[in-house]
Amino acid sequence: MKDLDDIALRSIKFEPYWWDAARPEPHPAVALAPQYDVAVVGSGFTGMRAALELARAGRSIVVLDKEAAGSGAARRNAGYLGRVLKHSLAALMKKHGEAQGLAFYRELGEAFTDVIALIERERIDCRLSRHGRFIAATSVKHYDALAADLEPMRRHLGYPYEMVPKPEQRREFGSDLYHGGAVIPDLAAIHSGLYHRGLMERAKEAGAVISDMTEVRAVTPERDAVRIVTDRGTLTAKDAIIATNGYTPRGLNWFARRVIPFQAHMAATEELTAAQLQDAIPNRRTMIDSNTNIDFFRPAPDSARLLFGGGTGIPRGEPAAIARFLHGLLRRVLPQLAAVKLSHAWTGYCAGTFDMMPHIGGREHVWYGLGYNFAGIPIGTHFGAKLAAMIQGKPEGRSAFAETPFPTLPLYSGDPWFVPMAMRYFDWKDRKRA
Ligand SMILES: Cc1cc2nc3c(=O)[nH]c(=O)nc-3n(C[C@H](O)[C@H](O)[C@H](O)COP(=O)(O)OP(=O)(O)OC[C@H]3O[C@@H](n4cnc5c(N)ncnc54)[C@H](O)[C@@H]3O)c2cc1C
Repeated sequence: MKDLDDIALRSIKFEPYWWDAARPEPHPAVALAPQYDVAVVGSGFTGMRAALELARAGRSIVVLDKEAAGSGAARRNAGYLGRVLKHSLAALMKKHGEAQGLAFYRELGEAFTDVIALIERERIDCRLSRHGRFIAATSVKHYDALAADLEPMRRHLGYPYEMVPKPEQRREFGSDLYHGGAVIPDLAAIHSGLYHRGLMERAKEAGAVISDMTEVRAVTPERDAVRIVTDRGTLTAKDAIIATNGYTPRGLNWFARRVIPFQAHMAATEELTAAQLQDAIPNRRTMIDSNTNIDFFRPAPDSARLLFGGGTGIPRGEPAAIARFLHGLLRRVLPQLAAVKLSHAWTGYCAGTFDMMPHIGGREHVWYGLGYNFAGIPIGTHFGAKLAAMIQGKPEGRSAFAETPFPTLPLYSGDPWFVPMAMRYFDWKDRKRA
């Protein structure tokens, strides 16, 4: 037990690693105007991208957040930039027809390239790297299923991949736990804290007002406007955007009934030696496993650490218990690092949906982009731009994800009591495919 006590109690920080470089700091309080063109609720990627585009289009914008701007998942995530959903292309083509399935995946591809173009255009220094991703198969059946999932993406969309058989696995990831895997060579990764901060700075330079430490209590459509009640006063806006994803409050009833918040856990190791890092992640790729409820490992973009996570959706209790759980994951997957300590451990909230798809749309001047199912860097950023275009009535606002109904279930009010059970079911299903 001694090593575990060291991890939990000695020098670990229970906050996101990204905050060392980009801590969310509350803005000085602003006097809220009685009226804005657009009020954005939530200051993550979705909210900030929408604010940036709308402010540049000359609209008056206020971004409201109950915490310091960026304290939600935006500065807590793993920084993986990909172009997949929880449903494969083949599954979506089967369910929605070939054209619609392809439309979803083409838009994901656009979202991925859009983030990279935005980072370059806006000169956001967020350590963008394009070393690709390794998906580690958790069984022989998963290995075959991976190939079956990736091949239609290559055939229809030209997305490259390479299968890596088990005997060669160590050239991609320093673990013998898996059964080979697949490399997607062109996927990317970022420093999430620096990316969000850069996006926020650009939105502010464009004229968006940030009012953080301001809790929104009600958003009510009223004829041609929207009334927004906050703990710092009431304002009206011609349009409002709900960009609260996994932090959507119960008070936003229609939205809370459609998103399923679930907690994700992450940790950073202390600095590793160059040899340890090279052995663990030889090509500096991001790594995920092939399960529905993934374990994931990546090199930090700005230090010699590994950042990793897993056990999503199952509450682990105290921060020290989360750290112990994550250290157990490190020892299981990369036993050669068993003596390595953790420097940071943290959690954040993602949003699932009942159809495991992201959703975008609007009703009565209240617009939303929600339910990113663990892919909010590309999709949130992209939806922010789409929402800005929708509000301006531009054709670029069209989205394949606006065309499917946003489902809920009877009696669901936003309390995700069933998430741990659902996660255990997914784990059982994955084990069944072993
Ligand atoms: C641990 C973890 C790892 C992840 N890894 C990845 C990854 O590698 N790649 C990826 O693409 N995605 C990842 N995700 C998901 C991704 O981070 C999110 O989907 C994305 O950040 C959502 O962005 P957002 O702007 O919509 O919402 P958020 O960034 O979550 O922002 C929502 C904001 O709404 C605010 N809010 C809530 N209620 C109110 C209220 N009443 N009034 C005012 N403000 C309110 C919150 O304070 C919060 O700041 C991860 C998430 C977590 C938690």
